[in-house]
Amino acid sequence: TRYVYRFGGGVSDGGKGDKNLLGGKGANLDGMASIGLPVPPGFTISTPVCALYYDAGESFPESLKAEVSGGIAHIEGITGKKFGDAADPLLVSVRSGARVSMPGMMDTVLNLGLNDATVAGLAQVSGDARFAWDSYRRFIQMYSDVVLELDHGRFEEALEIAKEDRGYHLDTEMGAADWQALVGEYKALVQELWGKPFPQDVHDQLWGAIGAVFGSWQSERAKVYRRLNDIPGDWGTAVNVQAMVFGNMGDTSATGVAFTRDPATGEAAYYGEFLINAQGEDVVAGIRTPQYLTKAARERAGAKPLSMEEAMPETYAELAAVFDLLERHYRDMQDIEFTVQQGKLWMLQTRSGKRTAKAALKIAVDMASEGLITQEEAVLRVDPAALDQLLHPTLDPKAPRDVLTKGLPASPGAASGKVVFDADTAEKWAAAGEKVILVRVETSPEDIHGMHAAQGILTARGGMTSHAAVVARGMGRPCVSGAGSLAIDGKAGILRVAGREVKQGDIVTIDGATGEVMLGAVPTVQPELAGDFGTLMLWADAKRRLKVRTNAETPLDCRTAREFGAEGIGLCRTEHMFFDSARITAVRQMILAEDEAGRRAALAKLLPEQRSDFVQIFEVMAGLPCTIRLLDPPLHEFLPHEEAEFAEVAAAAGLDVATLKRRAAELHEFNPMLGHRGCRLGVSYPEIYEMQARAIFEAACQVAEETGAAPVPEVMIPLVATRKELELMKAVVDKAAQAVFAEKGRTIEYLVGTMIELPRAALRAGEIAEVGEFFSFGTNDLTQTTLGVSRDDAGSFLTTYVEKGIYARDPFVSIDVEGVGELIKLAADRGRATRPGIKLGICGEHGGDPASIAFCESVDLDYVSASPYRVPIARLAAAQAAL
Ligand code: PEP
Ligand code: MG
Repeated sequence: TRYVYRFGGGVSDGGKGDKNLLGGKGANLDGMASIGLPVPPGFTISTPVCALYYDAGESFPESLKAEVSGGIAHIEGITGKKFGDAADPLLVSVRSGARVSMPGMMDTVLNLGLNDATVAGLAQVSGDARFAWDSYRRFIQMYSDVVLELDHGRFEEALEIAKEDRGYHLDTEMGAADWQALVGEYKALVQELWGKPFPQDVHDQLWGAIGAVFGSWQSERAKVYRRLNDIPGDWGTAVNVQAMVFGNMGDTSATGVAFTRDPATGEAAYYGEFLINAQGEDVVAGIRTPQYLTKAARERAGAKPLSMEEAMPETYAELAAVFDLLERHYRDMQDIEFTVQQGKLWMLQTRSGKRTAKAALKIAVDMASEGLITQEEAVLRVDPAALDQLLHPTLDPKAPRDVLTKGLPASPGAASGKVVFDADTAEKWAAAGEKVILVRVETSPEDIHGMHAAQGILTARGGMTSHAAVVARGMGRPCVSGAGSLAIDGKAGILRVAGREVKQGDIVTIDGATGEVMLGAVPTVQPELAGDFGTLMLWADAKRRLKVRTNAETPLDCRTAREFGAEGIGLCRTEHMFFDSARITAVRQMILAEDEAGRRAALAKLLPEQRSDFVQIFEVMAGLPCTIRLLDPPLHEFLPHEEAEFAEVAAAAGLDVATLKRRAAELHEFNPMLGHRGCRLGVSYPEIYEMQARAIFEAACQVAEETGAAPVPEVMIPLVATRKELELMKAVVDKAAQAVFAEKGRTIEYLVGTMIELPRAALRAGEIAEVGEFFSFGTNDLTQTTLGVSRDDAGSFLTTYVEKGIYARDPFVSIDVEGVGELIKLAADRGRATRPGIKLGICGEHGGDPASIAFCESVDLDYVSASPYRVPIARLAAAQAAL
């Protein structure tokens, strides 16, 4: 087998540009080379070598050495330089590159191949000793950091001191001799911290860097990132070795990063930043403030330094042509790194650009409209989970704001929370239920867990392409970066801005769309659902088979869900209406009643209340199917548990405290989840279900009468295990229906069905379907009863289970296809066998999870039901599942 794939100079060994083999970066370098773009020559060590390396106890396969030599010879042949040649040395970069871009991994070593001898050659050939020594010190600094893993703070410190000693402020003031002296200090630092001299053999340097790339695959940061993004550990990373080109060889040289469309808004305009006379990491690290790529962007920002379009018009035009070529070739928005070396443009990288949900939507819709992709592809391009970002509120433009400062609008959305200054605190506070804003000078991959835990991220340094900005956009966290006027003292827990102080724990708000940072919490408004969002949703609706309903019980939730496109109610949990403060007393009287007569008296008070709830819901859902579940939770949930509450509750219900306490004690259960709940309540107290059924049918008749649009109630019995339970409960409901229809002189179409949320019900679905007219899979309870894992107590150990790979994902979030899924499939088959065409849906939380929706499609359910804000996610996921 071959391990090394060459590219550049008319060669592209990678063939089809297979990402799985070459990693994303390698595949794209190969791809660019294959379409004739100016790519510095290089080679890629394929991803399978990473697994071989670990399997062999961190050593390389036998034949790799020769292949790498062949790769170096390829670069030497094209550049005419020799690796390690003291007269005219070849310098290379070494970069990692997994199938997907992974901020947790070793990123880049530049200028590899410099040593005490070659530095002189570089000075000679370039005619610029300052450049040569600067390159050498950068190389030692990077190599020490990412390969040798020495404390980079010490190197930065040494540089600061060197400048201070000389009375300099800027790196640009350092001359050749200054850099040369610093190289001496850096080498001494390496000796001190590493215990060995800095490697002078260029081949040792190269193999050290290659080993470090593979080593970084198993770093803690990379593991965290993989866990958060569901990336398998066995993918491995590739290593890319490539000839160096220099953006820091004077004023006709430059380096930059660019997107072919705006990654924040999706606008079809080139977007990017560049720096004249600089190396790549200068742009990303945010040390110097980058210049704009286009004149329009510069003017919009009111910035002075010339844009690339103005400063280097010819190279810019060449670059713009490359952008268009790349977009047409890859049929997606590209994120590009380029360097101009003494007027010559080089492409260093291209990849599909990370983007906000808003941009993803706009780019998908625009590209389909431009004919670059099909509508199906557009539907498949948008991650349903990312829609969440768009569905949530943004800052109310009319609300007063106490603006502290303004930074760059790095990732849109608004967030308020308590200020914290480090990632660990962010994680800790968030775990305790606090909303936090992570405030850092700049972020690094070590901060990822804190960024994930935070509502939003604020940094003092870094541009739109800084680590904070890129990662926040990917995670869907609002971010304001580069708020330069913030003086952050993390140790003291204080941030100073414009003469004011904000302490750790104080609340701030950030607006990732404008870059504003405000003191206190600012109110929000609902999002805009028309435009591109509406268009993509229409395309999705045309592709999906599954219907999408909502879990809702208040008129407000029903209205929200309908605006989001819900096609009915899949679950109305009637007990939520019982908790209403105006009704709870009657509910308690019902529970505390000693006999049926007492219960009926209390239920009579509840009837008109429930009826009016249903009237409102039926009105909002005009004519759409509404599944209404009869009472499910155990009765003691409605009684007080704290000593202090007893007296007040007893008085309100007209009872003495002793009776209330006795009843509460009688109703106490050791395991309420498996106790007196669900249809077991209806079996014990049929009058409760009778009242609820009556309320449903009276409301339905009333709405039919008033609006002419008859609702279609689907009365659902919870926690059924046996056919007999359902038979008894259906008789209660049917009897109530007949009575109401006789009184009102009209009939309403309705169904009586059951939830399938117990394994026994799934197994006996065949006979249950003889009675039940529909099934709705209550996968919350079905998961806990199938796995024997309490849904309320699972939090403490399920994360460990997922970390250890026992379950691939939290089974309460994404359906356990092998276990719970098998029961669903079996129940669906058995139900259909008895009652062909029986209506089947899902109403557990899984109804809003894209992976679970794909499963529902595979077993041919009729609909999924999700909470209102997840309805659009479900619509898109259902379309993707069908495509
Ligand atoms: C379920 O169990 O999946 C369900 C939808 O019912 P609840 O969450 O109310 O128990
Ligand atoms: Mg349930």
